[in-house]
Formats: sequence, C-alpha cells, structure tokens
Amino acid sequence: MRRISIFGATGSIGQSTIDLIRRDKDQYDVVALTGGANMAQLAADAVEFNAEVAVTAFDDKLPELRDALRNSGVEAASGTRALEEAASRPVDWLMSAIVGAAGLKPGLIALEQGATLALANKESLVTAGPLLMQAAQQHGAKIIPVDSEHSAVFQALNGEDISTVERVILTASGGAFRDWTLEQMAQATAKQAMQHPNWSMGARITIDSASMFNKALEVLEAKEFFDLKPEQVEVLVHPESLVHALVGFCDGGMMAHVGAPDMRHAIGYALNWPKRRPLPVPMLDLATQGQLSFYAPNLTNYPALRLAQSVMKRGGLSGAVFNAAKERALDHFMAGRIGFCDMSANVEAVLEGITGSSSLIDAEVTLDNVQHIDRIARESVDARVFNSDAQQK
Ligand code: NDP
Ligand code: MG
Repeated sequence: MRRISIFGATGSIGQSTIDLIRRDKDQYDVVALTGGANMAQLAADAVEFNAEVAVTAFDDKLPELRDALRNSGVEAASGTRALEEAASRPVDWLMSAIVGAAGLKPGLIALEQGATLALANKESLVTAGPLLMQAAQQHGAKIIPVDSEHSAVFQALNGEDISTVERVILTASGGAFRDWTLEQMAQATAKQAMQHPNWSMGARITIDSASMFNKALEVLEAKEFFDLKPEQVEVLVHPESLVHALVGFCDGGMMAHVGAPDMRHAIGYALNWPKRRPLPVPMLDLATQGQLSFYAPNLTNYPALRLAQSVMKRGGLSGAVFNAAKERALDHFMAGRIGFCDMSANVEAVLEGITGSSSLIDAEVTLDNVQHIDRIARESVDARVFNSDAQQK
C-alpha cells in the first residue's frame, strides 16, 4: 500500500486525482485530504477513503467539517498550522493542488519528509523555485510536474541529456478571448473569462488562461524546474490543445507530447512514475482531428507574456512579486473592482515599483523573504485599486 495525501483535494485537480485512486483503492492508504470551503466534498472523500485527517484551510469551516465527520473516525482540523502538520505526516506521494501561493509551504514540508511531490501548484516554483529544488535535492525527494505542459516536457526528456536541449516550447490554447480585440477584452467580465475552449479547470486558472497569466506562470515554472535560460523558453498558440509542449534538441530534432486535454494523463503519469500504467484517458484519433495549428502569440494583447520575460531576466524574488500581484489583481477582477486588462496594468506597475525600490528583491529565496515580499506586492495592488476607487468617487 502506498501512503498518499492530496492537498487541494476538493478542487479540479484534486477531484481528478481522487477519480484515479478510486479505481485502485486497495493500493492506496490515504493519509490527509485538504480543502478550502467545500466541506461536503472533503468530508465525503475523507470518509470514503478512510483518511487519517481532513483539513480545511479556513477556521470558520471547522464546525461544518466536524459535523460532517462525526463518528467517522476521521480527524478534522483547520487553518495554516493544521495544513502544515498534515503535510508533515510521512507519505510516499503527495499531490500539491492547492491554488495560489498558499500551496508553497505544505509542498516544501512534504519534500522535507522525502515524499515524492506531484506538483500541480505552479505558484510554488514561480515564487520559490530554488528553495523547492534545493529541498528536493537535500532530502532525496522527487518533484514530478503535473501541469500538462511540464509533464509533457518531463516525458519528452526521458532518457535525454538536459544539456542537449536548445528550446522548450509551451503551447497555449489562447483561452476564452483568443480571437478578441484588446478593446473587447477591456470590457470582458469574469463570467466570460471563465469559458475555456478546451480544458475544464478551476475558476482562477481558467481566467488566468484567458489573460495568459497562466502561460506566463508556466514559462517561469519551466525555467525553474528544468533550469533553463530565459531565451530557451517559448510560447506558441495552439488552439486545438492537443500538443502540450515540444522540446527542441541541438541536433534539430523536436519531441512533441500529444494527447487529449484530460489532466488525468499528467496526474496519472505523476502517480505511476517511474512506470507507465493504463489510465482512463482515450488515445487521440488524429485522422479525425485532421489539423493541428500553431502561431506566435500577440504580445500586445497578452502583456503577461512580456512580463514573464522580464521576470525571468530579473530573477531574485521578482517571481514572488509577479505571482502575488497577479493573485491579488485577479481577486479584484473577480470582485468586479477592476477590468480584465487592468490586471496586467496593475501587475506591471507593482512589479516595476517593487523591483525599482526594494532591496528585498535581491534577497535570498527563503520562505520568510518570499512571504514578506508577497505581502508587500498584495498591499501595493490593493493600494492602487482602492486609491483609484477613491479618486473616482
Ligand atoms: P481549484 O480552484 O479547482 O481548487 C483549488 C483547491 O485549493 C481546492 O481544494 C480549494 O478548496 C483549495 N483552496 C482554495 N483556497 C485555498 C487556500 N487559501 N488555502 C488552502 N487551500 C485552498 O483549482 P485547480 O484544481 O484548477 O488548480 C489547483 C492548482 O493546480 C493551481 O495551482 C493551478 O494553477 C494548478 N493547475 C491546475 C490545472 C487544472 O487543470 N485545473 C492544470 C495545471 C495546473 P475548496 O474548493 O474546497 O474551496
Ligand atoms: Mg498548464
């Protein structure tokens, strides 16, 4: 039996992970399941898999969770400390699928226990790449990427020498507004941004796909995970979302990873690694598909991609600033306080402000420094958004 935990179990990635382990229940001993607000789902899964502990990130949800777990034998807990304690329980494999920077610390703790970390939480690498990679190395732990593009690159690199890689190309569907003009995008609502053409994902990453902030984070994630130079990471728009990434080698050969847009492939690959096992993911019928198309992204419509380039070049803690400013700008967009294009305008201004003025940007990438600069970036976004609100009144 493999001991496993799922962080962010109630979300889109978490539920796809549960779908896979449900098919081989006798092989897994579930230690911890965590969620945020969805206590009905968390409790149902914790009882079904007889987990040791179920944790909600939010203290005000604990009474509901306790109620739902009464007489089940599953421990109920809440809050940041409880998440960290749950992450420290020894497991063989832990899925990191909390959304946002909140996923960083539990993943780090799991690595410190020597667990294999299935990493969906791209924010961990964007904000604290060197810290995560060092923790894995120091503790003999392994990180297996779950983001579909990074899983694709990881698979294409199987048996290859990383020094022969010239280029890594991440594909982007283009999201909900692929064919929209900038003027149309400026008027876009959160509801419209939540309509992804090909993938079914959580609300936040779906909106990030429409703005290409998701791809921008993935560019940074790829740089950190595969230790690439900024000029080695490229983005291509590929509306069909069937080629997830390509790796170009020094001899001119390119390896592409092709598959259905179903996250259970990447999750299952991380779950079964280093083996390949059958998964409930249908093979593509390329003859029926007929065509695959690719083109370069329009950087005017997607400033997030341009910002990712400058963050890669700037290094230091600029990834943590970029991610935190993006998370907070997204909160404001979802709350209707700012427009769709204001997200990148705010991120750019905050990034420039902090990069230009704070010496912390070049501080060592420690958890404390990351969390500190993360708070500064969020407050800077708030100050801009609320001040411009006040000016308009
Ligand atoms: P969801 O929004 O569907 O799920 C997020 C999970 O995190 C839920 O369990 C949610 O709980 C929980 N959560 C929310 N806020 C907090 C918090 N502050 N502290 C702790 N837990 C919290 O997201 P996704 O599953 O779509 O994405 C998860 C991660 O995986 C993200 O980093 C995303 O970028 C990445 N990813 C996702 C892909 C996808 O296909 N969905 C593809 C590639 C990467 P609850 O729902 O109970 O409130
Ligand atoms: Mg992805």
